[in-house]
This record gives sequence, structure tokens and C-alpha cells, in this order.
Amino acid sequence: MKKKVLTCVGTRPNLIKITQFSRWFAQQPHIEHKLLHTGQHFDYNMNDVFFEELGIQKPDVFLNINQGSQINVIARIMEEFEKFILEYKPHLVMVPGDVNSSFACAFVAQRYGIPVAHIESGLRSFDMTMPEEANRILIDNLTSLYFVTEPSGTKHLLGEGKSEENIKYTGNTMIDALVAFTPVIDASTVREKLGVKDYYLLTFHRPVNVDNKENLTVLVDIITQMAQQKQVVFPIHPRTKKRIAEFRLSDKLNNPNIVITDPIGYIDFIHLVKNAATVITDSGGVQEETTFMGVPCLTVRPNTERPVTITEGTNTLVELNAATILALLQQIQQGTYKKGKVPTFWDGRASERIVNEVVAFFDKQQAATA
Ligand code: UDP
Repeated sequence: MKKKVLTCVGTRPNLIKITQFSRWFAQQPHIEHKLLHTGQHFDYNMNDVFFEELGIQKPDVFLNINQGSQINVIARIMEEFEKFILEYKPHLVMVPGDVNSSFACAFVAQRYGIPVAHIESGLRSFDMTMPEEANRILIDNLTSLYFVTEPSGTKHLLGEGKSEENIKYTGNTMIDALVAFTPVIDASTVREKLGVKDYYLLTFHRPVNVDNKENLTVLVDIITQMAQQKQVVFPIHPRTKKRIAEFRLSDKLNNPNIVITDPIGYIDFIHLVKNAATVITDSGGVQEETTFMGVPCLTVRPNTERPVTITEGTNTLVELNAATILALLQQIQQGTYKKGKVPTFWDGRASERIVNEVVAFFDKQQAATA
């Protein structure tokens, strides 16, 4: 009988982390791989475009749960996921990252004795005001197989007493997508479409930056100052768009040097990252993508769960402060900013390693019960 592996996704960054799984699982004759989508992100720009562009396998199951409070969404995902796994009976449930839907699925699977594999395990910001930090810790406490992207992950998991033999440094699956789609990314014409040449690229969606009127006002002010130096491209996350309107900040952004767009599809977005003078962000994934591409990245957060992007890569944490940000932009412009290097196993083959580890996990299980 084939072993049944169920990968559960729910959000934009989840989708980007699993693009290469179906390709590698398809080469395993003893594994059946299915994809479940909880529906946490559902807008065309935050979801469908990634299936279209990146050839991600169509979800075998779509729970379509998105409206309601965070807790309500988590609870309903748990209920529906329970029904599904009782029927399907997977042998392994894989969850990526730190989003609510990954926690909900991991919790239910573990409760039914189904081993959980966590993709991007062991990352810690040590900031419990971030909902994602609680999710990371909770998921890792429900996990049997830990897939780690950077050395800090292994260190944290060992420090928390997790068994070394189940911690696998497989690398970064987000980079797999980047490597697989490089020719298409390079061929994008988005810069011509947007009319930009020498520009800063911005993404913001963390509650600390956008849900607070004072902080968002400072941020908008910094953006207008940056726009005096170069063009600014700002693809706006739905949450940020809502807040800009609510706090009546749209007029300030009405500037010929600021190009505001809806969230952009992956291919065009990465093309913009690759060619940006600097990326200014609070995203998790973008810190890694800039490190891989050697593009300077200023992360407007007090901490990061991805420290390798600072110690080895091109990332710097910055306060929400115009003087600090403008000084760093000047350093970058003058060519004195750090260059960075690509961390180990951020090489486009992390998904392949993960699939091989899953096979080894089942082999070991079989040997133990034989
Ligand atoms: N991304 C995208 N289009 C955009 C903004 C981001 O395709 O307009 C991609 C980005 O390249 C990265 C992922 O979305 O792969 C990051 O998602 P997000 O910042 O929403 O989540 P986080 O990584 O912070 O959890």
C-alpha cells in the first residue's frame, strides 16, 4: 500500500514554499501526495495567480475557510480538517511556515497520532507579540520531523530538547521556486509596464507597522522622503490598503514618484526585487529572497526569526525612523553596504532533500515495525 502524504497550505507564502513538492513526490512510486488548501488567503492576487504562474498542483481538497475572527477561522479549519483526515487517513501531514492554518492542521493531525512534518522548523523571533511566533512554537511542539532552513533553526530545536535524529537541515524551499523560475523571472517586462528604472521596492503588512495609525503615518512619511531620491514601487497587501484608507493617508501617497499597485504575481514581484536598488519590507520571505539575490534589504522590525539573512545575507533590521533608513540608503547608494553570501542549501534542491527524508522516515518506520 502506498504511504499517503498530505501537504496543507493556506496562504501566499505557503504556496511559494511548496511549488516543487509535486515534482519530487511524483518520482516516488510508494508515495501518494495530496494537497489540501484551507482557503485562508483567497483573493485572486494572493492565491489563484500563484497556481496559474507556478504550475502548483490543483488542491485535492479545498476547505474554503477565511471569513471570521482568527480564532473562528482556526476552529473551523480544525473541524473540517478533522473530518477530512478521519476519512483519508494520511500517514504524514506536512505543514509549512507559521500561519494559523498550519497550526490548525498540525494540531488535529497530532491529536490523531498522525506524524507531522514542519517545513521551516525552528525559526524563532522570541517576540510573542507576533501571532506567528506562537504558531512556530506550537507547531514545533506537535512535530515529529523538523525540516530546517538555517542554522538557528537547529540550534533552537536542540535547545528545546527535540531529538537530533529528527532534525533535518534540508535548506530553503522558497529558494527552490526562485531557482526553478529564474528564466521566466528574468524575462518579465514588469518594469516597462510600471515605467520604473531606478527604484526602491516596498512591502508592508505586519500589524505592528500597519494597524497602528501613528506608525503607519511615520511609514508613509518615510516613503515620501524616499520618493525624493528615487521612484518607489509599493505593491500593497490587502490589510495595508485597508488601513491606509481608514487612517486617511492615501493623499500623501499620491505622488508621481510613488507607484502603488495591488499585490503583484510572484514572477513580476521577484523580477522587481532582483532589480531594485533596495527592498524595504517587514515580510519574512522577502528577507530570504533578497539575501539569495544579493539585493540590499532593510527590514522594519525590532527582530527577525531569520537571523542568517543578517549574519550571512544582505538584510539589516531598522527602526521605523526616517534618519536611520535614509542613512542606510545612502550607504547602499555609495556601495559601502555589506554584500552578503548565500546560506548553505539555499540552492534550489531543498524540496528534493525533504522528499528523500520523507522516504527515509517511512523506511525507518517500516524497519521498526518489521
Ligand atoms: N510576494 C509576491 N507578491 C507581492 C508581495 C510578495 O509574490 O506583491 C511574495 C514574496 O516574493 C514572498 C512571499 O510573497 O515569496 C512573502 O509573502 P508575505 O510577505 O505575505 O508573507 P511572510 O513571508 O511575511 O509570511
